[in-house]
Amino acid sequence: MANSRRRKKRKYKSLLALLLFILAVVLIILFIHNKGKQDNKTVKINKIVVEPITSNNSDENNNKTEEKKPSVVESLSNEEIEQSKKRGLPVLMYHFFYDEQAGETGKDANFMEIHAFEEQIKYLSENNYYVPTWEEILGYVEGKNGLPLKSIVLTVDDGDESFFRLAVPVLQKYNFTATSFLITSWYTSPIAQENFKNVDFQSHSHNMHKAGSDGKGAFLTISYENGCKDLETCRTIIPNNCRVFCYPFGHFNDNCKKILKDCNYILSFTTQGGRVFPGDDPYELPRVRMSKGDSLNAFISKVK
Ligand SMILES: [Zn+2]
Repeated sequence: MANSRRRKKRKYKSLLALLLFILAVVLIILFIHNKGKQDNKTVKINKIVVEPITSNNSDENNNKTEEKKPSVVESLSNEEIEQSKKRGLPVLMYHFFYDEQAGETGKDANFMEIHAFEEQIKYLSENNYYVPTWEEILGYVEGKNGLPLKSIVLTVDDGDESFFRLAVPVLQKYNFTATSFLITSWYTSPIAQENFKNVDFQSHSHNMHKAGSDGKGAFLTISYENGCKDLETCRTIIPNNCRVFCYPFGHFNDNCKKILKDCNYILSFTTQGGRVFPGDDPYELPRVRMSKGDSLNAFISKVK
């Protein structure tokens, strides 16, 4: 009897051990299975967290859309590019303005009657003339891009009071932009761009619009250090870090060109007559002189 009970007891023990073994195996399987599920959950959570950051960043997407939109210059056909290279870019040169109806007179050919000027701006505006950016003009000079066939740049030298009093209101009336090459020593504080819609300010030097030691423009004989200082001072008066220059009296030499280049000016204009073409020296660009008494037809032939 005792033997039989012991056998039974051993049998139960083996059965219990088997059950415990099976239970352990089941628990291990369940543990592994659950761990797998948890890992999947982590992946899903990661996806949910990560995806919105990359796909819902609307600012970034908007910027990308804007970047993709081609500019006027980028949309030109090959034929337009070739034609624009042959046409050249007229950069018009003005100085002073006067109002005949108010009894004013223009001293010399550098004075433009304001109603004649208004006719010119009206013509450019109605005929959809395009004012390229300076970067587009640099690209054009370097042969990297064309320009729309109706491209035009208006420049007004010195920053005389007649420009602000008479010409700026006309530019604003037609929403047409002109560049003011400013003698910045005429100003004691920085210019607030928000007060001058349709005016792009660039440099005509700070204090070099005067005779130097040889009687010609002071830029010709200034030292390298003082030339750099002068060009940097312009940037304390002109907004947006000006990078385009116009030689006082049109006088320049290789030293002037080196100073401009070293001071990060990208283009410079002379008073030599003509249009700007690809291959021109970016620091020796010609302009088209506008003269008192020019008829509208004479103007049209200068800009077409
Ligand atoms: Zn000048």
